[in-house]
Amino acid sequence: MEQECQRAYPTLLIIMFAGLIGARPLSPPTERDLPWADASAISLVPVRGAQEFAIASQVAPSARAELSISQADNRSLKEELLHDLGLARAAERFHALSVVDPRAMAKPVPAMIAGNGPRMRGQLVAQTQRIDLYVGKNTFSIDQIAGLAGKFERVLRAAEDYFGTTLKRRISVGFYSKPPKRGVRGMAYTNEGRVELYYRPSEATGRAVTVAMHEMGHHLEAQRYGEAAQRRADTILHEGLATWIASIRWLDQAGASNWRQRGRQLHDAGIPLRLLTAERSGADNAYELWASFVDYLVRQYGWKKFNTLYVSGRGRAPGSSDYQGVLGKSLDELSDDWRAWLDP
Ligand SMILES: [Zn+2]
Repeated sequence: MEQECQRAYPTLLIIMFAGLIGARPLSPPTERDLPWADASAISLVPVRGAQEFAIASQVAPSARAELSISQADNRSLKEELLHDLGLARAAERFHALSVVDPRAMAKPVPAMIAGNGPRMRGQLVAQTQRIDLYVGKNTFSIDQIAGLAGKFERVLRAAEDYFGTTLKRRISVGFYSKPPKRGVRGMAYTNEGRVELYYRPSEATGRAVTVAMHEMGHHLEAQRYGEAAQRRADTILHEGLATWIASIRWLDQAGASNWRQRGRQLHDAGIPLRLLTAERSGADNAYELWASFVDYLVRQYGWKKFNTLYVSGRGRAPGSSDYQGVLGKSLDELSDDWRAWLDP
């Protein structure tokens, strides 16, 4: 993987190179404890209430046929896993990702958010319950994105299930050929409720879906913590969390079962386990190291502390959060603890 995230500090755009990014707010922070004990129980949930994805009137006729998305596409996280990985691997992954709250599995299908998302360049090709999808020139085709519409909605649901925060505002996701900066794959304009992804026509869509999931993760961060807190969040937590929210797809593409294993893999590959200077090893590696650190913090300290730590950020600079004040240890000490946890 080659993604990197670049942040345009002045505004609230969050960029991601060859990879991901994004973020927007409203509701107060939600807190959940980690349901370690329950995570082993894998009972499949029946597909719930049917909701057809609406198709915008502007949708190209050729795309309409692709959009007869039925209730089968309204899947929860568990269903997403089954859909993508097959039963055996889904069960294995679900065990590995033991931070998933089983209660999430019983949540109803998110309601349609009425109206339109922010207008973007290009053509509106589909509207799902919560996402408007746009396609510009010289990128994925209209048919490709229209055909993936249900996938994006499912990925959003998976991210929400995993993180425990639900999107409250309809967002728009647009595909374009030229990034604002070389190597950038995605940007999230969280204050505007939109995401941009940059791909050429010949590229595979799978990676783009993962990048989109990371970007939507930023929107969920902004939703949980508020736009202002998200804007000044410590990059380690900000990018680490968005990557963590996209765990299901990201880890699978990295060939790891969990973030502890992924950290070890990076170490074995010669990547220094250093958080403050992680970006020297490339954005992809940095995001993954940070996601591993986030995973460690959540497991060790719980969501309540983590949420407090997140909103204590004083700017995008890595290490800007008040680790000492919130967790009682400096970032250096916590880094040592994390490395010990990885036990490379
Ligand atoms: Zn990002």
